[in-house]
Amino acid sequence: MTGKSNTDKCSFCGREKKDVELLIAGIDGHICDRCADQAHSIIIEEVKRDNKFDLKGVKLLKPKEIKDFLDQYVIGQDQAKKVLSVSVYNHYKRLTQTIGDVETEIEKSNIILVGETGTGKTLLARTIARMLHVPFTIVDATVLTEAGYVGEDIESLLTRLLQSADYNIEAAERGIVFIDEIDKIARKSDNPSITRDVSGEGVQQGLLKLLEGSIVNVPPQGGRKHPEQKLIPLNTKNILFICGGAFDGIERKIGHRLNTKVIGYSASKDTDQVDRENLLQYISPVDLKSFGMIPEIIGRLPVLAYLEPLDRKALRSILTDPKNSVIKQYIKLFKLDGIELEFEEDALQYVVDKAIEFKLGARGLRSICENIMIDAMFDTPSEKVEKLIISKEYAEDKLSRSSVQRLKAS
Ligand code: ADP
Repeated sequence: MTGKSNTDKCSFCGREKKDVELLIAGIDGHICDRCADQAHSIIIEEVKRDNKFDLKGVKLLKPKEIKDFLDQYVIGQDQAKKVLSVSVYNHYKRLTQTIGDVETEIEKSNIILVGETGTGKTLLARTIARMLHVPFTIVDATVLTEAGYVGEDIESLLTRLLQSADYNIEAAERGIVFIDEIDKIARKSDNPSITRDVSGEGVQQGLLKLLEGSIVNVPPQGGRKHPEQKLIPLNTKNILFICGGAFDGIERKIGHRLNTKVIGYSASKDTDQVDRENLLQYISPVDLKSFGMIPEIIGRLPVLAYLEPLDRKALRSILTDPKNSVIKQYIKLFKLDGIELEFEEDALQYVVDKAIEFKLGARGLRSICENIMIDAMFDTPSEKVEKLIISKEYAEDKLSRSSVQRLKAS
């Protein structure tokens, strides 16, 4: 370089050569090491953003592989897992299908998952989201009301999808939306002539538009639409909808239907086969209708899957078997402090007993463990403990001191 080079500056930030580690010369300018570094990160970030939802080159997992993945995080629920795996696989296939046979268009099959609360519906949805290459969002149907009433417009469901697609419209149009608590928008009465039902039938009618596949104007910031707001048109034709709901009391409708059906010559044979403990396995679209879902919506959710109630064995397994099970998380937390943590089998069985006794299901396992572990988590980091064994007695003692009543109520 010549003597003049001392006054050379970075053409991006203006720093002089003496103020930087390295100044790289180009034909008409210079770039310093810091700016080159920054430019590099911007490129990486942009490419990542553009490729995040690019299905080209993505290896399509087969339904079996998708289920294997779900098995690592969710215990049991084989039927629901199978249905979800196939649906997601078909969704990908539909998106990546090459033209050739234009006549047979693969239609999407939206899904409805029915199962008691705390049996893993949302967990299934969240887990599947980890392995997707399409935008995914979970929304709650309880906040929705008909346009013109307090609450959120139905279109706002898609705002969340747009957000998770970084406002990449093309990607959002291939996304998956999980609508939780769909049962909360059931018609409150079986009588369709009931005076306006703003959070029931009206919302279902609105939702129908989305499920059917149409161009929907989405408020980019969600909430209520207002006249000055610029709306983003989104085509829902290829968006896969998965709905989930507890449908409390639907067993009665199923039981009723089964009873009515079996009055006939084969009655005794059929009733013998009905497993009264788990009526959900016999669920059919008719029961959703009796519950208050309008037939048009049911027609747009052709895949119906159910989740099993969780028994002792399932609860015990949930404690330790999933990849990020509650117990594995505690062991890791303690390990970070150099403490080896161990749970005796009796203690684990005790936690399960309490979850059943308090009718808390899987959701209660964590809160019970938290009550048992709080003292140890508070004390051990400042003590010289190398190993901690949680016995049944220890668990009983800690839980009896905690405010168990509060647990029951939550
Ligand atoms: P819901 O069916 O009400 O959507 P969630 O999926 O939110 O229930 O379950 C609540 C919690 O209970 C989950 O976060 C998870 O820790 C636990 N859980 C429920 N079902 C299962 C399951 N089948 N396998 C593993 N954990 C489960």
